[in-house]
Amino acid sequence: MISLYFHIPFCTKKCPYCHFYVIPNTKSHHPLLAEGLEREWELRWPQIENKQIASIYFGGGTPTLFGPAEIGAVLQRIPFSSTTEITIEANPEEATEELLSQYRSIGINRLSLGVQSLDDRSLQTLERIHSAHRARDAIFAAKAAGFDNISIDLMYDLPGQTEASWHYTLDQLSSLPISHLSLYNLTFEPHTSFYKKRETLLLQVPPPETSLKLLQSAVDKLESIGLKRYEISAFGRPSVHNSGYWTGRPFLGFGPSAFSYWEGKRFSNVSNLHRYSKQLQSNQLPVHFEEALPYPANIRERLAVQLRLREGVDTTSWNLPPETLATLDSLSKNGLLEKDTDRWRLSEKGMLFYDTVATEII
Ligand code: SF4
Repeated sequence: MISLYFHIPFCTKKCPYCHFYVIPNTKSHHPLLAEGLEREWELRWPQIENKQIASIYFGGGTPTLFGPAEIGAVLQRIPFSSTTEITIEANPEEATEELLSQYRSIGINRLSLGVQSLDDRSLQTLERIHSAHRARDAIFAAKAAGFDNISIDLMYDLPGQTEASWHYTLDQLSSLPISHLSLYNLTFEPHTSFYKKRETLLLQVPPPETSLKLLQSAVDKLESIGLKRYEISAFGRPSVHNSGYWTGRPFLGFGPSAFSYWEGKRFSNVSNLHRYSKQLQSNQLPVHFEEALPYPANIRERLAVQLRLREGVDTTSWNLPPETLATLDSLSKNGLLEKDTDRWRLSEKGMLFYDTVATEII
């Protein structure tokens, strides 16, 4: 089983916290990407034929800006099956029932909406161009367009965010037809406009004890409306695609800046549409970085990533080095991990302090 990822870098406006490779949605860029994706597919095809495709994911950027015809052309080349999960990311401002119906009709069966908040004040802090009202409308438009697998993203730890504001967002969730939710705390990543202002903004984010309360209240609310936490930041019907990342399923990434993990190696494409296109025009794969972690660093990293899943990891056949086993025992003594025969999983405390667990293991 494999997964495929397509990076569509167009956005109407760059958000101040975004560290992805994103460019303005200029129509003249569309043919460059379309031709690049076609050529990259042809070059990668020998690796893909005869493989079963578990999931396809169009991310970005805002992939719905590329257009149903362009996304449809990509899908037409792929021998997916009726059980393949096919996701597209969208933003509320352009997610109308009419547009989403077109995506549904070309085979997309899962929608991931960048809602971020259902409180207009938080959306203004994030300088998003949609309102909370538009976000709710977009979710219902997705349902009306025939999507029954709808995921939304929410963000917390925002400058000026209060517990009351967060509860205002959480209290609206039970009335929405969503099957999945991804929860992120705001981070200040280099090369973003928020990063440049971080000294001021960090004074306005909730302090650590409030941040923990925001997280805990979200977990309680989501579990109470049937969206079970199955991974540190994911709730509801498990995403086939993301579960592949956490369990080490091979995946190939297409498009500028796309990452891949294949036969123990990880590599990424150039983060520039023009260079991406140029390399493909000369029949070269647009890969600019590649690495293969040696044993035991590869095992340690995979263990840390897979522990994000609530079900934990059965390490029976893993050949863990003795020092990693000692680390696991010590994390267990500190109440961060639990062990059930050979299956390790995060405790409730470990779910709150996952970063510590990951750092210790890696
Ligand atoms: S809409 Fe999403 S991908 Fe586009 S700039 Fe904002 S955060 Fe980044």
